[in-house]
Amino acid sequence: MRHTLFISDLHLEPDRPDMTQCLLSFLKQQAPQADALYILGDFFEVWIGDDQKSTFHETIITALRQLTAFGFPVYFMHGNRDFLIGERFMKATGCHFLTDPTIIELYGKRVLLAHGDSLCSADVRHQRFRKYARNPRYNRLFLWLPLWLRKLIARQIRNLSKRHTTNMSDQIMDVVLQTVEEVMHQHQVTQLIHGHTHRPAMHRFVLDKTPACRVVLSDWHAHGSALVYYENQEMEFICFPF
Ligand code: MN
Repeated sequence: MRHTLFISDLHLEPDRPDMTQCLLSFLKQQAPQADALYILGDFFEVWIGDDQKSTFHETIITALRQLTAFGFPVYFMHGNRDFLIGERFMKATGCHFLTDPTIIELYGKRVLLAHGDSLCSADVRHQRFRKYARNPRYNRLFLWLPLWLRKLIARQIRNLSKRHTTNMSDQIMDVVLQTVEEVMHQHQVTQLIHGHTHRPAMHRFVLDKTPACRVVLSDWHAHGSALVYYENQEMEFICFPF
């Protein structure tokens, strides 16, 4: 049956070659059978500019390029860790950039896509950081710095963030249901797909007296994972071991 694939929160990094291998085989085997692939953020653990060069980066860029070269559509949304991925990466990979959030039409149904961090509205500190971090003016300034300095700053921010999140309750780090309902109502959708929280699930509920569904994508910490969205509107998660 015709279907579309969704992945997010791979958190790819050079220290996890098992993950990269899993992605490469996913891009080669599962992806081409689908109508399209959507990557909904935090594809990389960290991204400090499209000018980083390494075998790790090259391998992934080449694999995406091979997939898009013959017209297979791959859509790419920023996460809170790789929001500095820019035009050069999109050009090199052939991916289409998606803003967060985006509404797509999937086999006749309006579906809202988001990374998910904007829905975690109880985490006031992250929302404040997000506001500054997504400011194009600060981004330009940061990208203007030499690579070694960007690496240093990124490491500092990650350490701060780790300290922040280990002290935080599970509830604060999850989405706020009221925010989810507001956003879905505002965009007039009954289907939402997002990642970020690493709590894979299909939540079914009633919104404006209509059945609604919020799918949370899985991270790739322990195994690879993707959501398969079929043309008859049915969905399932598939997993692949490393
Ligand atoms: Mn995230």
